[in-house]
Amino acid sequence: MGTPDTQNTAAVTAGEERTETQGLDFIRTRITADNASGRFGGAVHTRFPPEPNGYLHLGHAKSICLNFGVAHEFGGMCNLRFDDTNPTKEDMEYVDSIREDVRWLGGDWQDREFYASNYFEKLYQYAEALITMGKAYVDDLSADEIRAMRGTLTEPGRESPYRNRSVEENLDLFRRMRAGEFPDGAHVLRAKIDMASPNVVMRDPTLYRIRHAHHQRTGDAWCIYPMYDYAHCLSDSIEGITHSLCTLEFINNRELYDWVLDTLDVYHPQQIEFARLNLTYTILSKRKLIQLVREGHVTGWDDPRMPTLCGLRRRGVPPEALRDFCARIGLARADSTVEYSLLEFCIREYLNAHTERLMAVLDPVKVVIENYPEGQVEWFDMPLSPDDPTAGSRKVPFGRELCIERDDFRQEPPKKFHRLFPGSEVRLRYAYLITCREAVYDAAGKLIELHCAYDPESRGGQAPDGRKVKGTLHWVSAAHAVPATVRLYDHLFAVPDPDNAPEGKTFIDNLNPESLHEITAMLEPALAEKPVGTCVQFERMGYFCKDRDSTAERPVFNRTATLRDTWAKLEKKG
Ligand code: ATP
Ligand code: MG
Repeated sequence: MGTPDTQNTAAVTAGEERTETQGLDFIRTRITADNASGRFGGAVHTRFPPEPNGYLHLGHAKSICLNFGVAHEFGGMCNLRFDDTNPTKEDMEYVDSIREDVRWLGGDWQDREFYASNYFEKLYQYAEALITMGKAYVDDLSADEIRAMRGTLTEPGRESPYRNRSVEENLDLFRRMRAGEFPDGAHVLRAKIDMASPNVVMRDPTLYRIRHAHHQRTGDAWCIYPMYDYAHCLSDSIEGITHSLCTLEFINNRELYDWVLDTLDVYHPQQIEFARLNLTYTILSKRKLIQLVREGHVTGWDDPRMPTLCGLRRRGVPPEALRDFCARIGLARADSTVEYSLLEFCIREYLNAHTERLMAVLDPVKVVIENYPEGQVEWFDMPLSPDDPTAGSRKVPFGRELCIERDDFRQEPPKKFHRLFPGSEVRLRYAYLITCREAVYDAAGKLIELHCAYDPESRGGQAPDGRKVKGTLHWVSAAHAVPATVRLYDHLFAVPDPDNAPEGKTFIDNLNPESLHEITAMLEPALAEKPVGTCVQFERMGYFCKDRDSTAERPVFNRTATLRDTWAKLEKKG
């Protein structure tokens, strides 16, 4: 079984000192080597570090599967750490949702739920230590001035006029920053490294800024907050993380990660970068997902069209399918884009083997069985899974009037059409063989009903004389069927690369106006009784999950995936 192109790019990058061991990706290869050399005493301790400023999405699933997966495989541990250093964007709602989503995906952090804000006091003390060493200073320049003086990739930066303050003055100012003596933006604390460094990140990066903001956990205790690059490495160090796995955009920040820990001479984890997940037809950026929610382009974070974990869960996607997906995409050191159809393939693979099959007619047309006694009802015992007898069975009513899919009938059948047309005989799944006698149309030419005859000797769907009947249709009894709202989903975005919008347009303009079709379908009675959250296969029609919008009178089902498998077909072609 192949995987998409992400894995090819995992080929060893020039300059890497280690090569991949057979079957292991570059991260697991490195960890194996670290264990062999006794680095970190053979321990493996990772962390998943979300910022609680939004709901988790498929990209986070990759990181969760990697961090928790690596820890599990090497007999180590993985922490859940909330990177809550930005008080203005964070919320307890997000913390709760992240916990739920990580647990749902199978991440077990036991009692190790940590917060960067737990370490604010320690981080502050480390900052004073840097000042005392002459390795950090308080700057009075504005954020704009600092940016303007940072230089470019080809030009060195310029030093701040405040760079050479005395240790005493820096300590005094930093303490007064903490004490709340200054307004937002009046000062920052910067590392004193090298304004001419070829790595722009190393040009005296900001470590602390003033923010008179209420923090969801520390309240009003602080009005200075550490920057990500400073808080992250120290949080890793404090927690005894061995391998700090992060996405590629932090590759230039690794030098700063190492500088902070080396300068303070504290325990030093290894940062390793991997490519973030990009997916066709999908946006994976919390900022943009927030915009979709706020502007009402979707019904909420858990809209089943969203790439959020709660959206996928509501759609009916099982966590096993996401874990399989994350395993198949593998790990690469170069950015690439994965086909959405691979995700659908993984969903189908799992659901095909793990769901019950029942019958629903999505676009019903009435069938009248003219030779079937009026008022008679038979209850057929039908297996819930064609391959698994232990799955049990359910009772399905059969009567004189049925519904079948409109599309299963053609007045003039194309070649190899084995379904219903005038004169043809088909099998009604597990019930009887019927022959089409006549199609009835209204004045506008719309098909309204099909008049058929059944073979009373074919109970169970077998021809008594062994004659061949190729087509098998699903059906429901018109008198017993339960009308239901069924939501058919397509990609949320109409184009494979939604971020790529023409001049003057944004990703919002790439939304797919056809991403949701709501229809009324007819369900067999057993289907209507399934509890919310149950995912089933509607025979021949796809996988559907009962939605929480269901009421006692009216079930609602979301289509999780179609049966069609474009990705496997592409694979075969390629
Ligand atoms: P976003 O760009 O959506 O805001 P983020 O990286 O800012 O994402 P965090 O909450 O900081 O979100 O991420 C938590 C962890 O998940 C980080 O280790 C981050 O690298 C990882 N992560 C986020 N997005 C992806 C992605 N698309 N692929 C792989 N890992 C990701
Ligand atoms: Mg982030």
